[in-house]
Amino acid sequence: MVEEADEFHGQHTEPTASKAVMIDWLPAVPRAERTHVRDYTCDCRPVVYELCQAGGLRFIRRTSRLNKRIVVEESPRDVTAVIDTLWGELLRGEAH
Ligand SMILES: [Zn+2]
Repeated sequence: MVEEADEFHGQHTEPTASKAVMIDWLPAVPRAERTHVRDYTCDCRPVVYELCQAGGLRFIRRTSRLNKRIVVEESPRDVTAVIDTLWGELLRGEAH
């Protein structure tokens, strides 16, 4: 983790648009494969998103800090082009 300073922030998701696409979040399942994080949102927010690659497919991981509980969920897995598009939509508030 990068040391936090007020002037240093990563990417933030835009507020969710009214017509935003709902992502089918599922509880994260531990897997043996190696996961690479390609991109991520700022951890100043209670919900952090990570763009992950594993086994030739991509998915988005959502980590929510709720009342000191940490909930980790994952989007469905798909090819890079599909998930990179979804990642862009998520950042712009067009998917959530
Ligand atoms: Zn931030």
